Amino acid sequence: MKEKASKKKSRITKRTNPNLIKDMLHKKISRRDFIKYSVYAGLSIGAFALLKDLMFKKKSEPKMSEQNLKEGMKEAKFYEARGDTVYCQLCPNQCILNNNMTGVCRVRKNINGTLYTLVYGQVCAAHNDPIEKKPLFHFLPGTRAFSIATVGCNMRCLNCQNWSISQASPGDVETQHMTPEEVIQQAQLSKSKIIAYTYTEPTIFYEFMYDTAKKAHEEGLKNIVVSNGYVNEKPLRELSKVIDAANIDLKGFDKDVLMKLTGGNLTDIKRSLKIYKEEGVWLEITNLIVPSYTDDLKKIEEMCEWVKKNLGEGVPIHFSRFHPQYKLTNLPPTPVKTLERAQEIALKKGLKYVYIGNVPGNEFEDTYCPNCKKRIIERKGYLVEEPKIKDGKCQFCGEEIEGVWSF
Ligand code: SF4
Repeated sequence: MKEKASKKKSRITKRTNPNLIKDMLHKKISRRDFIKYSVYAGLSIGAFALLKDLMFKKKSEPKMSEQNLKEGMKEAKFYEARGDTVYCQLCPNQCILNNNMTGVCRVRKNINGTLYTLVYGQVCAAHNDPIEKKPLFHFLPGTRAFSIATVGCNMRCLNCQNWSISQASPGDVETQHMTPEEVIQQAQLSKSKIIAYTYTEPTIFYEFMYDTAKKAHEEGLKNIVVSNGYVNEKPLRELSKVIDAANIDLKGFDKDVLMKLTGGNLTDIKRSLKIYKEEGVWLEITNLIVPSYTDDLKKIEEMCEWVKKNLGEGVPIHFSRFHPQYKLTNLPPTPVKTLERAQEIALKKGLKYVYIGNVPGNEFEDTYCPNCKKRIIERKGYLVEEPKIKDGKCQFCGEEIEGVWSF
């Protein structure tokens, strides 16, 4: 392909520029002709460049070798095979895959009637983050979580902030192969007692997450997920046994808008939230308010009512500020006023812990006792003052403060 392209290039240039310039140098053509031919030459070169782009565009080089890619392959859980066709049952996309097809998430492939995860242990991001970054505000404040991800996602959010890895396929970005034991070892070396499955959608690297989380529990570590909640009931109930806390993105409460913004189905996400609660996983919710998509205050009110009724008034909710990115660079950031209105609505509906996120220095990134209203956890970005909470109670008035405050 490369040779063909370069041959074509020399044919075009020979026909135009070299002789023309030679003639010009020997003054055989007029200045007018020179300008005319130069325009033709310019057009030809432009056309060639376009043609080359369209016809001979080289696929970007894979960032990983065949051997690396093979290391990430492992038979997947939660699928059914009928002949050569595979029915993935991990998430509500319920992909039906013929031989050699890959699911919506890009990381599960049917090979001759067996479904494989392609990203087992293929870590594309690993950082030691403050727990507040997830955000989890009522789960071991001031601690750090060793956080990992692989490529892939089962949603297609227009505003994704990690699109370069979430919307990538195996081989598109560099990864480091890690076993569950190596992840645990890295967490311990970085003095984290928590492992976070985050950045992309952890559901799509379920097998790796599950094995790591199970072993981490055996070693006395805790596990947290930051997820879109787009997972089927059976895998979620199984996973919940080894997960201690979750921050779930409830990305909107209007089913049509949610579908348009993310490609996800609201009913399935609501079911996941209830399951986390039933299974005793500490739960917090993030709601990113995207102007013109999810800033309808009536819908926010409905969402708060639903959260209180189905999950309880003690589930913290984080209203988060949108910043223009990925496919929504045309939108402005969420006005702080809108976030404050959402916060007022949530408090009015009876939710006890309501936060405003992505607005540095905002007073509502602190925790206030729902009874005496005193500030009991002060935050400055990811820095946390010693919580004024003793044995799970407000130090000032003795009110119980929902959360996990010690290991
Ligand atoms: S996990 Fe992937 S392959 Fe399975 S149903 Fe979801 S998107 Fe499809």
